[in-house]
Amino acid sequence: MELTTDVRYLKGVGEAKAKALARLGITNVGELLAHFPRSYEDRTVLRTIGELQIEETACVAAMVASEPRLSRVRRGMELVKLTAVDESGRLDITFFNQSYVRDRLVRGESYVFYGKVGGTPARKTLINPQFEAEDRHERTGRILPVYALTAGISNALLRSLTETALPLCAPQLPELLPERIRREHSLCAAPFAYENIHFPRDFESLAIALRRLIFEEPFTLQCAMRLLKLRRERSAGRRFVSVDMGEFYASLPFTPTNAQRRAVDDALRDMCSGMSMSRLVQGDVGSGKTLVAAACVYLAWKNGCQSAFMAPTEILAEQHLRTLEGFLAPFGISVGILTGAMGAKARRETLGLLSEGHLDVLVGTHALLGESVQYDRLGLVITDEQHRFGVNQRSALTAKGEGAHVLVMSATPIPRTLALIIYGDLDVSVIDELPPGRQRVRTFAVDESYRRRLNGFIRTQAAEGHQTFVVCPMVEQNEELEGLRSATEHAEALQREFPELHIGCVHGKMKPKEKEAAMAAFVSGETDVLVSTTVVEVGVDVPNATLMIVENAERFGLSQLHQLRGRVGRGSAQSWCILCSNDTSEGARARLRVLCETNDGFRVAEEDLRLRGPGDFFGERQHGLPEMHVADLQADMDVLRDAQQAAGELMDRSGELESEEFRPLREKIRTMFELKSDTWN
Ligand code: ADP
Ligand code: MG
Repeated sequence: MELTTDVRYLKGVGEAKAKALARLGITNVGELLAHFPRSYEDRTVLRTIGELQIEETACVAAMVASEPRLSRVRRGMELVKLTAVDESGRLDITFFNQSYVRDRLVRGESYVFYGKVGGTPARKTLINPQFEAEDRHERTGRILPVYALTAGISNALLRSLTETALPLCAPQLPELLPERIRREHSLCAAPFAYENIHFPRDFESLAIALRRLIFEEPFTLQCAMRLLKLRRERSAGRRFVSVDMGEFYASLPFTPTNAQRRAVDDALRDMCSGMSMSRLVQGDVGSGKTLVAAACVYLAWKNGCQSAFMAPTEILAEQHLRTLEGFLAPFGISVGILTGAMGAKARRETLGLLSEGHLDVLVGTHALLGESVQYDRLGLVITDEQHRFGVNQRSALTAKGEGAHVLVMSATPIPRTLALIIYGDLDVSVIDELPPGRQRVRTFAVDESYRRRLNGFIRTQAAEGHQTFVVCPMVEQNEELEGLRSATEHAEALQREFPELHIGCVHGKMKPKEKEAAMAAFVSGETDVLVSTTVVEVGVDVPNATLMIVENAERFGLSQLHQLRGRVGRGSAQSWCILCSNDTSEGARARLRVLCETNDGFRVAEEDLRLRGPGDFFGERQHGLPEMHVADLQADMDVLRDAQQAAGELMDRSGELESEEFRPLREKIRTMFELKSDTWN
């Protein structure tokens, strides 16, 4: 059997099951084997009733001592009750809505029950336990996998399919880790890892399997990024002629910070080096990254080249258009915009100007990647808030300009260890200094009892001519997620509360035109309070806004909250960020406390990493990188560090991984990104 064999070839999988499996991302046998358990049931230890501890989940062997009794308590609710005994005591067992067990459990026979123990030490109970005849316990007296499921797919089915496929596929399992790496880092081979992650021989074997599988993902990712970087370094880029930046700096309404100057210098040096630039500018919100971008555009323009500037949302594209025009129009540099919302005529006109070379800079969203967008002489590609763009999209854009330079800007601080993996293909400049005169945003975490004072706060801000952002976790009220505030309803409620104020609302489900209008009204100061979903998360710049309120703050990641907070404190007035949450759990409180204690994005990120593990930093959603399945499962920084170091050493030793022993690794890297052939060949 091959890893690519369709799951329908497995016994027990028909059309319906195949469809259901596809919902779990399982279409072939390889994907089935890569669907790792999310937890395990320990059935290795068989307890007596006397040994059972309240609240523990355990296996117990006992004899059914009473005829199972069926009763109906309410309409639609059926109970089966029985008593089981062993030499050490008795146990009350109840099944809800499983009337069939009445005929499966026979008085006088012994069974092994598995479930969570309830009741009191004197009167122990099991509710809805799993069970099987005691003489069959041999088969399941082990550690059993518990998989993520979907409707129509039971855990038992996944177990049996995996059990069938494993031995048939073991020889085909790709060995991504070269032998030397496995030896040096004491990692087991692939077949052992796959066998023991699904059906652990014992807990020690499970730990060994996990360690190897966790190692594998960041290792592969790091190799992939280093490989990308190697290929780039070998490819020649447009060589720009350096220019005196004095004129550019002199035209600015402020003095650039030293950190901004350093980042500009790094980028200009890259672009004049003869190799193509691939640089990340990392700087906290408000650190002034747009200026660095403008300086690069200026150099490109001086060299007769066009620039493309890609933003994650249309709102941000509009804003960048205005900012760039402010910086660049004085030199006669023409800036245009391309958005999905544009009419056909305007679009044609803009594209015409671009292809004829009459536009120097084009700002836009993903639309800039469209086939119909032809540049005259594209020399520089800038992407803002890079975590929204995949490595793929980045390379698609550069493919449009032979040897074009790439500047990536990110306001998402990443702890250093992770940055090396996530941004391994880029050179990095860090803007670690904010423009002078910025006030620290004061941050508080409050609960519902603070609501009235909070409303009073909104009122005083408005009275002083300042504006307020309110961020909600959802667009509309959703019955499934009761207790969460939705942007639309909350906006209506605030409007009732403050009839004298202008309350705006913006969210992702609005039409682009409506969104734009709502945003524009807030930017111009016409709206006092803007209620929104996280569409304002990145980049939006409204210096007059001094209050950020986040509803159901426990629903957001720490780094995301830090981003949201960055929407205020952009002017000279004191600003506040109020995190509202009724979640009283210590975990939730501890996370919000981090934000109250520091304004430093890198510290927030480090804490986020410490509290939640690295899983959240990876994945398509955050960085456009492939998801790391196992690292998500059991995040462990030490293994991550090990893996990253091993990958670095391997790449130093083995260059582009051309030797035959690296073939599975190379294959894996290729499929990971499903990169276009022009990037990889
Ligand atoms: P970022 O994109 O890094 O979050 P922006 O580029 O949007 O930050 O800049 C934030 C604000 O700070 C803008 O209003 C910008 O004009 C202003 N700004 C940038 N650099 C400086 C500086 N050196 N001195 C004063 N204000 C600055
Ligand atoms: Mg920005």
